[in-house]
Amino acid sequence: MFEILVATNNDYKLDEYKELFKGYDVALYSLKDFHIVDDPVEDGNSYEENSLIKAKSVQNSTEMVILADDSGIEIDALGENLPGIFSKRYAESHGGSKKYNEFLSKNHYGSEAHFTCCIVLLNLKDEPLYFIGKCYGEISKEVTANNGFGYDPIFIPKGFNKTFGELTKDEKNKISHRANATNKLIEYLKNENLI
Ligand code: IMP
Repeated sequence: MFEILVATNNDYKLDEYKELFKGYDVALYSLKDFHIVDDPVEDGNSYEENSLIKAKSVQNSTEMVILADDSGIEIDALGENLPGIFSKRYAESHGGSKKYNEFLSKNHYGSEAHFTCCIVLLNLKDEPLYFIGKCYGEISKEVTANNGFGYDPIFIPKGFNKTFGELTKDEKNKISHRANATNKLIEYLKNENLI
């Protein structure tokens, strides 16, 4: 069994990783499983830097292989790469996800947008390993129901007429940025005969 500590406090993300690794010889542990309290300052300049900050911040607490990720949405109408690595902070500074999603759907519906997820794996090789996934789509006209978190209820992935928030977990996990990054990681682990 290949064991991985997932360095996140976001239960939705953890849940998604558990689904994405289902059927593989992988055991995922959360920070809570080991009573690790961690909330690093994400002051990197890229998804890669921030994912590494998150992974390194728990490195003193474990010898396990660590998976951390940094993700975000880029909305073309807001300008290049925005909010991107600031996705969480933009929502917070606009009164929270609900309010910011309302603002975006009202003012920027139809804008092209994409999610990015950068996974980093630490403690496996000498150097950190990165796996990047994207998912393209557009901003919806309304804030929809939300089975997920963050920007899910205003993001319509290409080829769908529903938002991420309206998709089932299974549907989102087939096409999401996190799924695309995880599939690359799974391919890597298979090629290395680790799973
Ligand atoms: P972090 O990767 O935990 O630092 O968070 C990045 C932020 O991007 C989240 O707080 C969400 O606002 C947004 N985000 C990242 N992935 C998703 C997703 O799958 N759905 C909706 N929002 C997301």
